[in-house]
Amino acid sequence: MGEAAGSGLDALLRQRRREMIEWHLEARGIRDRRVLDAMDRVPRERFVPEHLARDAYSDSPLPIEHGQTISQPYIVALTAEAGRISPGDRVLDVGTGSGYAAAVYAAMGAEVWSIEYVAELAATARRALDAAGFERVRVASGDGTLALADAAPFDAILAAAAGPEIPAPWLDQLADGGRIVMPLERGLGWQQLIRLIRRGDEYDRDDLGAVRFVPLRGEHGLR
Ligand code: SAH
Repeated sequence: MGEAAGSGLDALLRQRRREMIEWHLEARGIRDRRVLDAMDRVPRERFVPEHLARDAYSDSPLPIEHGQTISQPYIVALTAEAGRISPGDRVLDVGTGSGYAAAVYAAMGAEVWSIEYVAELAATARRALDAAGFERVRVASGDGTLALADAAPFDAILAAAAGPEIPAPWLDQLADGGRIVMPLERGLGWQQLIRLIRRGDEYDRDDLGAVRFVPLRGEHGLR
C-alpha cells in the first residue's frame, strides 16, 4: 500500500518536472540544453521540506528553514544559463540555501563550491546533496561576500541573494573570461539581475531584468 502510494507520487513528480521544463523554462526562453538536461535530472523534491514535496515543481520560490527560500526554478535556470556553465568550470554558488542550485550546476558538469551564511542551512543542504548523489559539491558555511580565496580563481560566481554592489573579493577571485551573475538591490522592493564578464582587466556588464531575491548579508552585503 505504502509502496503503491510512493510510486504514485514518483510518477506525479516526474510529470510535474516535465511540465516545469516545458512550460516554466523552455516556454520562457531558456535554450541552453545543458541547463534543461540538468534540471530534468535533479530531483527538486529532495531539496524542499518533506511536506512540500508535491509542490516541488511549482512555478514559485518555496520556503525552507530560517526564513529563507529555494529559488523559483526559472530563476535558477536563468542564472545557470547567464553563467554559461561548461563541464569542468569552477563555480562558486553564493547562498547554498537548500542546495538545489548547487546540484543543478554540478549536474551541468561544473566543479562546485557552495557557501551559506546560516550554518544550519549549510548542514541541511549537505545532507540533501549527499542523499541526491551530489557528494562532490563542497559546502562551506561562512560569508560568501568574501568569496573563497582557497578555491579561487572561479569561472563563475553565481549569487542567490541581493547585494548593494558587486563585492570586491568576487572581482579579485574571478578568472579571466569568468562570469558573475547576481541581483543588485535597486530600492522600492525590486532588484536587477546583472551579469559581468571579465575580459582581462575589463568587464562587460549586462542587465538580465527585474527579479526578487532575499538580501545578501555579510561584510559586503546589505546593511
Ligand atoms: N540557491 C538557493 C537559494 C537560497 S536563498 C537554493 O537553491 O535553495 C539565498 C541564501 O543566501 C539564503 O539561504 C541565505 O541565508 C544565503 N545568504 C545570504 N547572505 C549570504 C552570504 N553573505 N553568504 C552566504 N550565503 C548568504
